[in-house]
Amino acid sequence: MAIDTVCGMEVDEKKARFSTVDNGKKYYFCSKNCYEKFQNNPLKYVNKKIIKSSEKDKLNLQNKDNVQKKIELKKEDINKNLIEEERPLAEKKKIKVKDNEFVINVKDYLRAKDIEILEVLSERKRDFEARIRIDTMLGKQEFYLMAKDKKTVSDNDFAVALQKAQSKKMLAAVMATGSLNKKGKEHLEQWGNLVKYEKLKF
Ligand SMILES: [Zn+2]
Repeated sequence: MAIDTVCGMEVDEKKARFSTVDNGKKYYFCSKNCYEKFQNNPLKYVNKKIIKSSEKDKLNLQNKDNVQKKIELKKEDINKNLIEEERPLAEKKKIKVKDNEFVINVKDYLRAKDIEILEVLSERKRDFEARIRIDTMLGKQEFYLMAKDKKTVSDNDFAVALQKAQSKKMLAAVMATGSLNKKGKEHLEQWGNLVKYEKLKF
């Protein structure tokens, strides 16, 4: 089957009534109409075909280029976004260093964990106390929070927190940047139903 270069129709070479030769190439036409169009301006149709296929190649190349460019742009966007998201955090941290870093970090930590601060009881450089509400498996529960910036948490820290919590008829939550020492661990095992412990990670 040949293709009528004027209208694009398939033409059976054996049955075609209209054909011509141009530049050594034979062309078949579906009708007199197409044959005449070709004869009136063969360059239009011969060139059309050539341009068409070369344009296709160009377009394909351009498309490939564009897809590649788009992918690269997206990558750039993602990188930009990452950088832009990181920047304000870093700036915030700088402010925190000058300001009361520990307390602000604790507040950020609570906010990130969806823990509500009901009342701030005390704010010091390495120590933060508040009434908080934690969404536990048993529903929302109020805790007396004692957050400390110290390397080790001892049984004494738990005892103080528990005492303060019980005077307010609350459960106690101790959060600290450091870990439990041996006595702290023992205390937590014994009183774990009344006091929670969480290591603060900023
Ligand atoms: Zn035709």
